[in-house]
Order: sequence, then C-alpha cells, then structure tokens
Amino acid sequence: MTQVVVLGAGYAGAGAITKLEQVTDGSVDITWISDDDYHLVLHEAHRVIRDPNARSKITIPVEEIKSRDTRFVESHVTGVDVDDRVVSLRDADDVDYDYLLVALGSATAFYGIDGLEAHSLTLKGLDDALEIHDAVESAAADATHAEPARVVVGGAGLSGIQATGELAGYRDDEGAPIELTLVEGLDEIFPGNDPSVQSALRERLEARDVNIMCGDFISSVDDDVIYVGGGEDEPATELDYDVLIWTGGITGQEELADADVDKDERSNRIYADRDFQTSDPRVFAIGDTALVEQGPDDVAPPTAQAAWQAADVAGENLARAARGEPLKTWTYDDKGTVISIGEDAVAHDVDVVPFGTFGGFGAKALKKFIAARWIADVSSVGNAIDAWSDL
Ligand SMILES: Cc1cc2nc3c(=O)[nH]c(=O)nc-3n(C[C@H](O)[C@H](O)[C@H](O)COP(=O)(O)OP(=O)(O)OC[C@H]3O[C@@H](n4cnc5c(N)ncnc54)[C@H](O)[C@@H]3O)c2cc1C
Repeated sequence: MTQVVVLGAGYAGAGAITKLEQVTDGSVDITWISDDDYHLVLHEAHRVIRDPNARSKITIPVEEIKSRDTRFVESHVTGVDVDDRVVSLRDADDVDYDYLLVALGSATAFYGIDGLEAHSLTLKGLDDALEIHDAVESAAADATHAEPARVVVGGAGLSGIQATGELAGYRDDEGAPIELTLVEGLDEIFPGNDPSVQSALRERLEARDVNIMCGDFISSVDDDVIYVGGGEDEPATELDYDVLIWTGGITGQEELADADVDKDERSNRIYADRDFQTSDPRVFAIGDTALVEQGPDDVAPPTAQAAWQAADVAGENLARAARGEPLKTWTYDDKGTVISIGEDAVAHDVDVVPFGTFGGFGAKALKKFIAARWIADVSSVGNAIDAWSDL
C-alpha cells in the first residue's frame, strides 16, 4: 500500500490528516509524526501567559483528531532524506514514505542580533508560554510598585501584540508591579497592515499602560540592557529589562537544512508550488514551513488562517498524488484578521462583517468563534464548547 507520511501536528498537519483520512478512506497507509502527542491551537497560546490553566483548552490529543487506522509516532524529526525517501527521528526508527507532507511550522529568527537569543524568551509553543508566565511572575515577586519589573516584548506582529495584551491582563488581574514595553523596529505596530487596524491596536495597548517604541530595531542585548537603534553618530537608546520576550520574526526549521528540496537560502523555508509540491515531486510542504507560491513575487502568509485553508487542499493532493491523479491548486483567501488585546479584540476586514475595523463585543465574539470553529473542525463540538471561555 502507498505510504503517506505527514510531519507536524499544527494547523497544517492536523488539517491535512483530517482531509487525507476523509478522501482516502483506508486506501493508503498514513503515518503522522510530531514531537508532541497533541495539537496546540498556537494562535491562542498567548492565553497561557496570563492563565496557565488555559493550556488544557487549547491542546487537543492527536487521538481525538486522527482515525484509528492512522499510525501516530511521537518523536522529533531530525532530518529528511529525499533520495532514499526516509524521515529520520530522534530515539525512534526511521520512517519510509512514498509521499511526504512537511508541516513542521517555523522557528524564531534572531537575525544575528548580538545577545538576543541568549537573553530572550520565545513564544513558539506551550512550554514557551508557561516559561514566560513563570519568568514574569518571578520578576514581579521581586519588584515593588516603586520599582516595577520591566517586561519588554520585541516585535509587534500577531504574536507580540497578543502576548503583550495577555501580559497586561496578568498585571491587572494580579495587581502585579510590572512595567510593559513593546518594541517594534518598523514605523508602526502590526507593520504592513492598514493604519486603521494599527491605530485601533495602539489605542487599546496604550489604554492598558503599555509603552510603545517604534522606528528603531533592537541592536544588541546584554544581561541588563536592551540597546535599541544607534549607529556611528548616534548612541543607542538603553532599555533596562528584567524579562525580554522576542517575537520579532520566523525562520525555517534547522532539521530541514539538509533536505534536498529547493529552499530559501537564508531561512530554509521550503519553496512549494500552488499545489504544495516542492522541487521533489514526492515531497509537499505547507504552513509556516513553506513559502507557497501565490503569483509572481508573492507567497502565502505565515498564519494559522493560511495553514488551515492550505491543509484542506494539501490533504486532498496527497491522496491525488497517491492515485496518480492531477493535483489541485490553492489560492489563499484572506478572510480578515482578528487580534486579541487581553479580553478585548480588534477585527479588520473580516468577510462576514462589512464594518472595516471594529472592536468591542463583535470582535471578541468573532475571535472566540474562529478558534472554536477550528477546534470543532479538527476534533469535536464538545471540545470547542469546553474551550469557549478560555479563548
Ligand atoms: C502567540 C501566537 C499568536 C498567533 N496569533 C495568530 C492569529 O491570531 N491569527 C493567525 O492566523 N495566526 C496567528 N499566529 C501564527 C500561527 O499560529 C502560525 O502561522 C501557525 O501555527 C502555522 O501553522 P503550522 O501548522 O504551519 O505550524 P505550527 O502550528 O507551528 O505546527 C508545527 C507542528 O510541528 C511540530 N514540530 C515542529 N518541529 C518538529 C520536529 N523537528 N519534529 C517533530 N515535530 C515538530 C510542532 O510540535 C507542531 O505540532 C500566532 C502565532 C503565535 C506564536
């Protein structure tokens, strides 16, 4: 029987498995490999910074996602040999494939900034969110309202903004002595997006006493100080800190560095066509791992929304490839953005509501609905209802 192997249990992997099982109905052998035996609803992971109990609501055991016939291997992928068609694993036997879907997400990019990796916490998974919670809690325990703990978030994209919102929520829930600063190197937070959503987010963060610094990149970090900007003629701005959380960019997974498929040289993210096929016709790639072509000079964004949409077509294409049928192509459909700031949220250009940018109850309900719909899609309506209050 044809062996189809899917790597990763994020939106891309979990969604592809669900679709693949639906369309093959036992006619191919499916192996699903990931380093944890649960799917993490990563786009809600920031909730755990404020409340570690939220973790059980945003993790779904793979057993509740996959069918009984799909074999799950809980292991860390250490490499892919496309010539021998083998996936190598840490502390487990190699796995052969006829068709492979790589959906291993991304790693944090540090851009070679001196001291940044050594002195910062990142937010790429559940353990990271718990570590941030603990670090902030401990810094606040050593601080006073006269000399608060200085918590700095570097990078104001989706994860940095939402993490900052949860940190503000934590500070307010606990009455903790914490001073919060969000640093963004480009000119405005949520860079590259519409000014209306940028100002709606800024307004809400500033209302929660978050200091926002934009327009200069972090240039280096040492034990006590973050240096922002600076150059030959200009000294850097010095920011004392107790906890630094870095959410300033993504890059490919180093485990894929030696896989012989076409990749972006700098980031190792894998080039994939609109049908998710890579330069090796037996290897497909989607989600944050991949740069999925969307026309000249354009690729799909590294978002849960894009990975979720792509997974549905990728799952079907794996089945088509196994049957020798033509592959489907995929075009990303931007359904808008909903971003949380603690309990508040801002929605922008969402296709179900023709209001442009808005906050309040409508945006909050939409944010919950999006995550709950995903949980219901990959597992069950019961899990979605259970998670509702923590989303
Ligand atoms: C805090 C935060 C908030 C976000 N908010 C939003 C949002 O509001 N909207 C939005 O659209 N997007 C948001 N994003 C981005 C979104 O979460 C990602 O784009 C999305 O998770 C990508 O899905 P993926 O399946 O490609 O990767 P992931 O969800 O990262 O899944 C990768 C999977 O691969 C596994 N894995 C990785 N390496 C290995 C290995 N070597 N061996 C075995 N298994 C491995 C991981 O455990 C995981 O199961 C947010 C991200 C963060 C961090």
